[in-house]
Amino acid sequence: MALAWDPPTELHSPSVRYRGDPMAAPQPLSQRRPIRTAEIVAVGSELTVGETRNTNAGELARDLSDRGVTVTRLVALPDRLDELVGALREALGRADLVTTTGGLGPTPDDLTREAIAALLGEEPAIDPALEAELRGLFARRGIEMPETNRKQAWLVPSATPLPNPNGTAPGWWVDVPGPVSPDGAAGRVIVALPGPPREMRPIWRDQVIPRLEARGLGLRRVTRTLRLTGIGESLVAARLGPELLGAPNPEVATYARHDAVDVRISAVDGPGGAAAELVAAAEARVLKAFGEHVFARGDETWVAALGRRLAGRRVALVEIGTAGALTALLGSASWLVHAELLGRGAAGGDLRRLATDARLAHDAEIGLALRAAPRGDDTAATVAVAMTRDPVHRERRLVFLGGEQGRERAALAACAVLYRRLGAADRAR
Ligand code: AMP
Ligand code: MG
Repeated sequence: MALAWDPPTELHSPSVRYRGDPMAAPQPLSQRRPIRTAEIVAVGSELTVGETRNTNAGELARDLSDRGVTVTRLVALPDRLDELVGALREALGRADLVTTTGGLGPTPDDLTREAIAALLGEEPAIDPALEAELRGLFARRGIEMPETNRKQAWLVPSATPLPNPNGTAPGWWVDVPGPVSPDGAAGRVIVALPGPPREMRPIWRDQVIPRLEARGLGLRRVTRTLRLTGIGESLVAARLGPELLGAPNPEVATYARHDAVDVRISAVDGPGGAAAELVAAAEARVLKAFGEHVFARGDETWVAALGRRLAGRRVALVEIGTAGALTALLGSASWLVHAELLGRGAAGGDLRRLATDARLAHDAEIGLALRAAPRGDDTAATVAVAMTRDPVHRERRLVFLGGEQGRERAALAACAVLYRRLGAADRAR
């Protein structure tokens, strides 16, 4: 691949540039575009060989999405200059913002700066202020700075540095000057961030987000998630239908999580109405179809959802044949006063009695007993709920799959039974 510049050899040449105030506006306002779409390019062969998980991309995508930016692509690339330049060029052809992470280290395989410079046809040069800071960091520890680190003081004319309080690699904010992308539109932005998450996060949060917000970030998006239990994703999708699931605004999507099927509804202001109205209307439809299955909203867990309905009441639980799956699921709950895994023969297998005994022995308002047993390839879950006053409730459900997955689903079934009983008891009062 031909570079637009020759790698600099004499870095202390008189062509050294100092760009001064990093917040200075490098472009006329007319060329600045609001940020509506973004792509994330994670750089590093440690990612493509699977040594390091690409958590940065997920975190940034989540944050941008929450801010109403449409993230159109996440990619991870090996440390290769040609790959990087190509990926950046393509990403800039699609998105208002391209954020990279990684490749800002001092070693020759860290090539993000080189790639941005090559893409823009700009020559990197040592920034004296950055170099002085970098040397200061090493001097503080009484170490002489290795010459390889000097490239961490590079800038190109379109870049302003994003100081890194937690490491030696400053990030870059790059106002892409010319028609790099096929549509020729200027005003796109590249943000280059260091790879280590504890360096990346504060720069993103404290420096990049405020700048992005200053130029208009995302569309106001309203999002609501309904969490469903006791129904599979395919059935949810079939009942919602392609009309609702295929609509662009509001967007309705289903996600099979380990503890629930989530239905996520989100909308931006549009010709059909304001975002909040569009979401409310779609939510009403989902609730009408699945209301009885909804146990939580947002990212509420079973522990939190049950805690809400328990409203101060405490639970003692016993489980049989589950390898402790229910305790693993609920163990962190403040309302759980006792949890115990019992042998198959306990109380002659009388679950009603086990639930009552657990309640009384541990001075809890509620006793919960669960037994899981293989049924062919699936698992039979029997659940008993003992509450003060009410007769003990006992219920059996067949859950999908055996083994560990079956045991986990049996534990979820126990949560669902308890949640419903609490609702019924409250209504009866
Ligand atoms: P680099 O800036 O490329 O030198 O990356 C330094 C370190 O940051 C790597 O060795 C990883 O431990 C971590 N890292 C790099 N990229 C990512 C990523 N996408 N997600 C999480 N950690 C990363
Ligand atoms: Mg690297």
